[in-house]
Amino acid sequence: PTNSIQPLRLLLIGCPGSGKGTQSSRLQKNFSVAHLSSGDLLRRNITEQSALGQQAQQYVADGKLVPDDLLISLIDSELLTVGNTNWLLDGFPRTINQAKALDATLNKLMQPLNLVINLQVPEDVILQRIMDRWIHIPSGRVYNLSYNPPHVPGLDDITGEPLSKRPDDTPEVFKVRLDQHHAMATPLLDHYHDVVVDVKGNTSDEIYPQIESEIVNRLGVLPGNMPEAF
Ligand code: ATP
Ligand code: MG
Repeated sequence: PTNSIQPLRLLLIGCPGSGKGTQSSRLQKNFSVAHLSSGDLLRRNITEQSALGQQAQQYVADGKLVPDDLLISLIDSELLTVGNTNWLLDGFPRTINQAKALDATLNKLMQPLNLVINLQVPEDVILQRIMDRWIHIPSGRVYNLSYNPPHVPGLDDITGEPLSKRPDDTPEVFKVRLDQHHAMATPLLDHYHDVVVDVKGNTSDEIYPQIESEIVNRLGVLPGNMPEAF
């Protein structure tokens, strides 16, 4: 372990359905970390029919990448909102252009990324997960009918609000998203090669402890023992 505690400045990379949202929820429970998910932010904007939501809607429905400039300004403003705290990026950056823009923003904020987690889950388990997945749009909470069902069918555990199927969780759109992921993953992992670690597993329960020990070993932080601000 390092002898000084570093803030969490984390990026999760993984194919659609690899469990980025699930791992993010667990990290939020165990570390004091803000979760910035581009997909969750886009879905909220689409539900609210904001200007951004209207521009992004068709791309998301088709499983295509939303144009870089929209995402870059969205995440820049989120990073300013969370301030100098621990944060975790999920779903952004997804292109080298986005990565370069993010690097520039983080240099200005003096908050460089210090850990990139590459989630590796076999593809045959992923499609079934996507088909069984329901989400709570306002919070981004993810449920799975087979291994993580809501307490009351169809309702969010915390708010009691209705759950939704993501319109892009169909086999056809999933294929587009998977191809998209494979096209972008290698250049992105190369870009961050000095801070990337691979974690492998069939289930989120197998993967989570590996992420936690990477955080403990590399950033010197223990779960439940995290300063909120730096
Ligand atoms: P999962 O949530 O299952 O891990 P995913 O990675 O495909 O799957 P999200 O990250 O929720 O899903 O993204 C959903 C959609 O939002 C993408 O298919 C894309 O249309 C859009 N999107 C999200 N992040 C970005 C980004 N950084 N750049 C461009 N488009 C994005
Ligand atoms: Mg997600």
